[in-house]
Amino acid sequence: MEHFIEVAGATIDTRNFINGERVATGDTFANHSPIDGTFLGDFHQAGETEVNAAVEAARAAFPAWAAMGPAKRGELLHKLADLVEANIETLAMIETMDNGSLLRSHIRGVMPRVAMNIRFFADWAINKLHHPAFETRGHSNNISWDPSGVVALITPWNAPLMLATWKIGPALAAGDTVVLKPAEWTPLSASFFADLTVQAGIPAGVFNVVNGLGRVTGMPLVSHPGISRISFTGSVPTAKVIAKAAADNLTPLSFELGGKSPIIVLGDADLDLAAELAVEQYDNAGQVCLSGTRVLVHEDVADEFAEKFRAKVATLKQGDPRNLSTDIGPQIHPVHFERIKGFVDRAKGEGIEVLWGGEPNGDLGGLFFKPTLFKNPPVGSEIVTSEIFGPVLTMQTFRTDEELIAMANGTEFGLAACLVSGNREHADHVTSQLVAGTIWVNCFFVRDLSAPFGGSRKSGIGREGGTWSFDFYADVKNTVVSPNGWKE
Ligand code: ADP
Repeated sequence: MEHFIEVAGATIDTRNFINGERVATGDTFANHSPIDGTFLGDFHQAGETEVNAAVEAARAAFPAWAAMGPAKRGELLHKLADLVEANIETLAMIETMDNGSLLRSHIRGVMPRVAMNIRFFADWAINKLHHPAFETRGHSNNISWDPSGVVALITPWNAPLMLATWKIGPALAAGDTVVLKPAEWTPLSASFFADLTVQAGIPAGVFNVVNGLGRVTGMPLVSHPGISRISFTGSVPTAKVIAKAAADNLTPLSFELGGKSPIIVLGDADLDLAAELAVEQYDNAGQVCLSGTRVLVHEDVADEFAEKFRAKVATLKQGDPRNLSTDIGPQIHPVHFERIKGFVDRAKGEGIEVLWGGEPNGDLGGLFFKPTLFKNPPVGSEIVTSEIFGPVLTMQTFRTDEELIAMANGTEFGLAACLVSGNREHADHVTSQLVAGTIWVNCFFVRDLSAPFGGSRKSGIGREGGTWSFDFYADVKNTVVSPNGWKE
């Protein structure tokens, strides 16, 4: 079997990356591009043996990496970020080939953010990870964030390298070593990134990548007694399986799961702004956990808003994500495409009105699904309660704030909310009652790496970002020092 594939001019190693070396296995899984179904290559699937080897390598590398301290680690991590920046175009293109997201977004936003994920947390560990000592009856409390060991990172396919480095950055900066299992639909960028860690001089074993299906590769990793943390971004059903596996070893978890977030348009909202923000919910072909997929609009402005929203949607250009003028690319995989289509077909079967879309894009074929809006689905219907993870939104109207808040909070999720209002007091009144990890008022997707990020209810466990990331990846320690007993 070949060990290398050429994608968009880059050479990608299809083997696992363990202890600084490439490891082939007898087992493989195939990878195709969602853009046109092109076969990209077979990847070597890691089983229990390779996962154990990766955890052992990370354990062996841990003491020296932990002892290096934040400043020296920071130098290496900045070199790694430099290398990401030097390879933005290549990383952007391989990620687009692999997951079908827009090349434009990868070049302008996502890949620069990958570099930032690494730099930011390296610097935070050096400069910001301090808590002033405080006194208890003359004793001083001294807080430190100690490296915790080997962290297992399980990541999804919708923003592969962005979401992986959002975890890798703080984990490595904290002095932990890493075993990453990327999503099996998108293994390319993590493999390329592994080569960059070698070029940056990150010591062997500090960063490892094992590839394969969740139950084959992910399961032995999250069940391993030698890991100190699991950080997972993915679906609720998988989170439950991982939590059960982690329970045997009491491994601490951080989960960032799905959402069914509302985008709320109050009666006093600027409707042009509301339409602008609403159309953004189709970004990444709707494959964004934070998407506001439930449009909740005051009945007095619903028709005017819907027309403005329709006009914006009409300008969206769907097509090849490598084309810089494309706004919506394909869905990730035939399995996922069929899942989305199933939700839409069932909703249509129930007689729910389709305002636009509601079907695959027949002109483009393949995995392209038209941006879709359902109008006034009944409260509690599947299309308003289940996460679809596609370009499918619903629009419901409300009369009073009480009605709105009940609807907004009426799912099992609590990841995010977007609110459009022209009145600060009114906006405060509503946001204070919403259940969500992040709320955007008159804006969307403004994400500072120092802000806490995570979900309430079934949308997650814990928060990452800034010091919250280190609170999770590190062992937070309090050393209480008495004023008594000193001989000097
Ligand atoms: P999705 O349904 O969006 O593909 P998943 O939650 O199934 O999301 O997948 C997210 C990540 O979790 C992927 O890397 C996947 O391989 C991994 N995964 C799936 N099942 C398991 C499992 N049993 N143990 C560990 N990881 C898993």
